[in-house]
Amino acid sequence: MHILVFNAGSSSLKCHLFDWMGVAEHDTPKSAIWRAHVDWSRRSAPARMTIESAASTKIEEEISKPEIASILRRLAATLPASPELACHRIVHGGSLFAHAAELTPEAQRKAMTFNHFAPSHNPIQLEIVDDAEVLFGPKVRQFGVFDTAFHATLPPEEYVLAGPHHWRDRGIRRYGFHGISHQNVSRRTAQLLGRDLRDLRLITAHLGNGCSLAAIEGGISVATTMGFTPLDGLVMGTRSGSIDPGILIHLVRQHGYSAEMLDAELNKESGLKGISGISGDMREVLDAAASGNNDAQLAFDMFTGSVARHVAGLVTALGGLDALVFTAGIGENSPEVRDAVARKLRFMGIEIDQEVNNSKPIDQVISKTGTRPLMLAVRSEEDWEIARQCFAAAGSMLC
Ligand code: ADP
Repeated sequence: MHILVFNAGSSSLKCHLFDWMGVAEHDTPKSAIWRAHVDWSRRSAPARMTIESAASTKIEEEISKPEIASILRRLAATLPASPELACHRIVHGGSLFAHAAELTPEAQRKAMTFNHFAPSHNPIQLEIVDDAEVLFGPKVRQFGVFDTAFHATLPPEEYVLAGPHHWRDRGIRRYGFHGISHQNVSRRTAQLLGRDLRDLRLITAHLGNGCSLAAIEGGISVATTMGFTPLDGLVMGTRSGSIDPGILIHLVRQHGYSAEMLDAELNKESGLKGISGISGDMREVLDAAASGNNDAQLAFDMFTGSVARHVAGLVTALGGLDALVFTAGIGENSPEVRDAVARKLRFMGIEIDQEVNNSKPIDQVISKTGTRPLMLAVRSEEDWEIARQCFAAAGSMLC
């Protein structure tokens, strides 16, 4: 069977087609037979598309009408096989979706109620579900995997926020995000270590443009750094992470800020970009720091300090730590970031193996032999994880 995965963000859409042979494949990531990347960062301009398939040469083109329906029609025309399942990453499932779910009209209505919690993701992701239904018809069943679902296991002392009691009635609580990645990487870590996930206490560090940590005990998320929205927690590429909420009150009162202005500054102008004044891209920050730019060095130090401090904090939720696992763009590719975080956590016994760390390790232990906690760099196979969870949710009738 063929499973088509849609992973849409506010500025891009990634699609993968997997040739899925059956349950036996569940635990080993496999490559897609077709993949597409659509950059629609400027919704009014042409969308740029790149399509790669094992069966044909790479296609690169622009589509002048970047409406989702026309983009999907063009993508579908290049698929080497018809999908039987369409799977969608949906960022916010609130407290209603603890697992992957079939996107029936009722489930779609429920997911829409969280649109205002994730306005730059959920509406666009659910629009893709609608358009895919028109394109493929009812024979292709559609499933959603929610970024919040993995954190549905957080205990009340982690998900209740210390605001007024009525916040809970309004759904204001910690949800946590990047759950698909944290879940995938935790299972993969157990596999790589040859250990049972149920016996491991892990902290997974998803460090991409957005960054979050998850404390995972026995395969279950028990604490995480993102909160009601993906703004909370670590310093990120362009997001502030945790800051004193009194600053927001000050900006509104003294500087006439609107909700839109706060949203734009906290989400797009803060983090590495705000501190360095250069870029939210870690590679550019590293280059500038290497050529002596003090603000870029400060951004790097604050970023790695924020990761280390939050790791140390999350250890309290686990009562100890077996392994710290780095993943996503920065976590998988930056030896400098992994090294700086390890140095700041040396008091816990963490020691990185410099030679391994500098040898582009992937799916590998990177701590010194014999030291504990272990450190690993593991590739996040988010799209494969979405397909895996949807296949499992679709059940045995598909085998
Ligand atoms: P997203 O969260 O959008 O999926 P990614 O997981 O692709 O993002 O991560 C993007 C981040 O990874 C950027 O900050 C980028 O600079 C960083 N990155 C990618 N490759 C490297 C590298 N070789 N060294 C340092 N940072 C890197």
